[in-house]
Amino acid sequence: MARYTGSACRICRRENLKMYLKGDRCYTDKCAIERRPYPPGQHGQGRTKFSEYGVQLREKQKVKRLYGLLESQFRGYYRAASARKGKTGENLLVSLEKRLDNVAFRCGFADTRAESRQLVRHGHFIVNGKRINIPSYQCRAGDVIEVREKSRKVVRISEALETVDRRGVPGWVDLDKKAFKGVLKATPARDDITMPIQEQLIVELYSK
Ligand code: SF4
Repeated sequence: MARYTGSACRICRRENLKMYLKGDRCYTDKCAIERRPYPPGQHGQGRTKFSEYGVQLREKQKVKRLYGLLESQFRGYYRAASARKGKTGENLLVSLEKRLDNVAFRCGFADTRAESRQLVRHGHFIVNGKRINIPSYQCRAGDVIEVREKSRKVVRISEALETVDRRGVPGWVDLDKKAFKGVLKATPARDDITMPIQEQLIVELYSK
């Protein structure tokens, strides 16, 4: 599956938001948005105002890039979210949050969602006793996510677990670091997503 391979810091600077896409580096003074807090590009410092469409577009791009998705995948999530009961924006965010690559990241098994996605693809995780290598797999309340026995020596995973306290584990995850195991105590709700997101702007954009 195709994916964005450009600079992660460029995304943060474009969205004017610290999105923590590079793991450890984000917590140091090397963070690009701290050093250059303006949009990238030759005219980055000149542009200040966005049209209504521009504001909606930026919000959509922000969420899409936060979860490392491409447009067609993101639109698929939107379509599914609008077909379900309840608020479309909230449905959208919750279904993104329930992706296995995101849940493994939230459990602390990876430094970033991008790394988590790769670890999932490489089959390092077991969900409810079954090896799953599909990053978009939708986790549910009660699911048990474990690092495979063989994969517990993978340095990236053990190092990520060592620094998990700095990133924080959400309330809907019960993490057992020693057992390399996370349990979903509940389905993530909208209020559990703390990144500043105005999902109604995305709904407005796609409703045009
Ligand atoms: Fe974003 Fe800073 Fe991390 Fe780069 S280092 S991804 S700018 S938070």
